Amino acid sequence: MKNTKFIFVTGGVLSSLGKGLAAASIAAILESRGLRVTNQKLDPYINVDPGTMSPFQHGEVFVTDDGAETDLDLGHYERFTRTRMKKSNNLTTGQVYFSVISKERRGDYLGKTVQVIPHITNEIKDFIRDSAEDFDVAIVEIGGTVGDIESLPFLEAVRQFRLEVGKQNAAFIHLTWVPFIKTAGEVKTKPTQHSVKALREIGIQPDILLCRTENFLSEDIKAKIALFCNVEVASVFTAKDVSCIYEVPLIYHREGLDEKIVDLLNIWTGQPHLEAWENVVEKMLHPAEEVSIAIVGKYVNLTDSYKSLNEALVHGGIANDCRVNLKFVDSEKIEKDGINHQLDGADGILVPGGFGDRGIEGMIQAAHYARTNKVPYFGICLGMQMAVVEYARYICGMERANSSEFDEKTPYPVIDLLPEQKVVKEKGATMRLGSYPCTLSESSFAFAAYGVTEIDERHRHRYEFNNDFKSGLTEYNLKITGVSPDGRLAEIVELHDHPWFLGCQFHPEFKSRPTDPHPLFRKFIEASLIYHRQKA
Ligand code: GLN
Repeated sequence: MKNTKFIFVTGGVLSSLGKGLAAASIAAILESRGLRVTNQKLDPYINVDPGTMSPFQHGEVFVTDDGAETDLDLGHYERFTRTRMKKSNNLTTGQVYFSVISKERRGDYLGKTVQVIPHITNEIKDFIRDSAEDFDVAIVEIGGTVGDIESLPFLEAVRQFRLEVGKQNAAFIHLTWVPFIKTAGEVKTKPTQHSVKALREIGIQPDILLCRTENFLSEDIKAKIALFCNVEVASVFTAKDVSCIYEVPLIYHREGLDEKIVDLLNIWTGQPHLEAWENVVEKMLHPAEEVSIAIVGKYVNLTDSYKSLNEALVHGGIANDCRVNLKFVDSEKIEKDGINHQLDGADGILVPGGFGDRGIEGMIQAAHYARTNKVPYFGICLGMQMAVVEYARYICGMERANSSEFDEKTPYPVIDLLPEQKVVKEKGATMRLGSYPCTLSESSFAFAAYGVTEIDERHRHRYEFNNDFKSGLTEYNLKITGVSPDGRLAEIVELHDHPWFLGCQFHPEFKSRPTDPHPLFRKFIEASLIYHRQKA
């Protein structure tokens, strides 16, 4: 095995400090120093994957090329580095126990008593080692907060790991919180002291502390933290709050974090090339224009549910030198009250993916509004399906047309299950998942965006465009501009008597990056910008 270096990222005091972003940003700077970097996420929950969890509970489910339904932090990792994530970049307690129990049933443990130490911890260490193969550096983020019961086996495993590979090959970075207490007029270090104490009690001494706080910490405060937490002063870094997340790698670099890491792990590299990130931040902080995009969906109160989507729209803005203002509109409210000014001011309308029938009539109305008012429309997965339903009902005279997901008795199931999906009973990992190829027709919005005819995009859905209604819909000018290579599955639909109306069965948002905005988001924002200028 090559000499991979490991960085373990833990979090203290409370959740939501941005551990995923911290791990992704560290990866970004190390990659910009010419290293091959990968990220892993170890999640303490017992679900085998987050695929069966409600987005209200867990935020977005991020889908990888190889069809894994993973934690949304993997989305951050992909947006910040060139490395593509796989199933093997996300491990949950559920997977660990599933694997250990299967081995026990097979008799692999030869009659031994199977225990947390060493069997569970060995399983975790094997995973970390295997999925880091071929990389210079693996950044391993441990979910949860230090002190939780659930993350203990993971922390114990990485403690052992460091002992096995040695100090020069593994480092511990602890992200903690240093709050500014208004009434006292000063920042407080006690929560950090306590969380490092909790870490040390289980045998982990952090090498680096990343202190999440409002302003840069003074040398005095750093010295105090260093003294109480048993780290060098030069290893205490400010992780300052930022308005633009893509600024984090730049701030870390300015503070000297990457230099400290390569020094600790004895890695030989040159200085980082951060120009691409500087450019992204400059474009985001000083855009020339603005557009307003309405997202009509059902998880509007929890915007983490649309994490990749929100980011992809911002990336579309970067590509067009404009700020993208997002307005979340509850589709259930449209269903109840009608559009009723809720889409006023929108320069583009986007209906994202989703499951369950709540608010779907509102999405259909939003697609109707966009089509008839010639506002740019982007339908993603469910948003494409609802646009097809709208067209069938209003243009093709198919009254009560629907997806059979929402109305089993509809006379026109324009969206339906494929025969092979009809027999599936289990919920976990039974959808069309992961990357599938798609062939584009040349005269299409899609081809104008991608510039090639063969593309690959990621899917996560059960229902499909129903080919029984293909001729019934296309004779009224619904264009099918992207299909699976065998022609069997409709992947993209468009309307051409419209400035930009496109629905896709896949989720393009998963593949967009700030440094390489996705073509469809670039074109959707461009169309919205043109619409905006025409209004003015
Ligand atoms: N619920 C729809 C399906 O299963 C759409 C899923 C999605 O938008 N990701 O096909």
